[in-house]
Amino acid sequence: MPKTISVAIDGPAAAGKSTVAKRVAAILNFTYIDTGAMYRAFTWAVMERGLDPEDEKASCSIIPEVTIDLLEDGRVICCGQDVTRAIREPLVSGNVSYIASYKDIRLALVDMQRAMAQSKSVVMDGRDIGTYVLPDADVKIYQIASVETRAKRRYDENVSKGIPTSMEDVIADVRKRDYIDSHRAFAPLKPAEDSVPLDTSDLNIEEVVDAILNIIHDKTGLEIPCH
Ligand code: C5P
Repeated sequence: MPKTISVAIDGPAAAGKSTVAKRVAAILNFTYIDTGAMYRAFTWAVMERGLDPEDEKASCSIIPEVTIDLLEDGRVICCGQDVTRAIREPLVSGNVSYIASYKDIRLALVDMQRAMAQSKSVVMDGRDIGTYVLPDADVKIYQIASVETRAKRRYDENVSKGIPTSMEDVIADVRKRDYIDSHRAFAPLKPAEDSVPLDTSDLNIEEVVDAILNIIHDKTGLEIPCH
């Protein structure tokens, strides 16, 4: 069997990771795994049950009953319901970092993530992929962009999806999530020592995709298909 390749893309909120990770995976014919969608789906499940996402004990109590499936077409199914749109709503975005700071929930989702990455080539994006989920990933990228750039991108994305938001709320959400994600005790957001930093503030999506494909080629020797 030919060797599989794993690509880890980490970085702060709304750095554009999922958009480019999806494209890179499609060009290389790898599987894309959006780990943020899994933390979002879990948050949705907590709130749907009327539980308080800031209550660690209550949130962790539903671990045995929560199922999350990431479908090939990008849909996210949680406990049998299509939550693709619901998990992008501000209510979920504003609470997901609490859920993602609970160790037991992380351990459960990391188990799923590692199982999904087994024996196939993947592009996985998140916060702790290079440092914790796939420490032996062939390629590790740490994608950053200024808060202003990230907030503008997330605002435009919300508008295009018809999700009502204000720019002030998006900036506040991005800052809050960055703070909680990088200060949590277990598997916080930080660059892996062997990651390649990529500042995308002044790059468009195609330029970021090309930069990542070049890094993958340099690190693994993989021939990049025409795209
Ligand atoms: O990537 P996205 O912004 O959709 O992730 C939502 C939230 O999920 C992040 O703000 C973070 O709290 C959490 N997350 C995480 N570890 C990951 C992926 C996401 O803690 N690997």
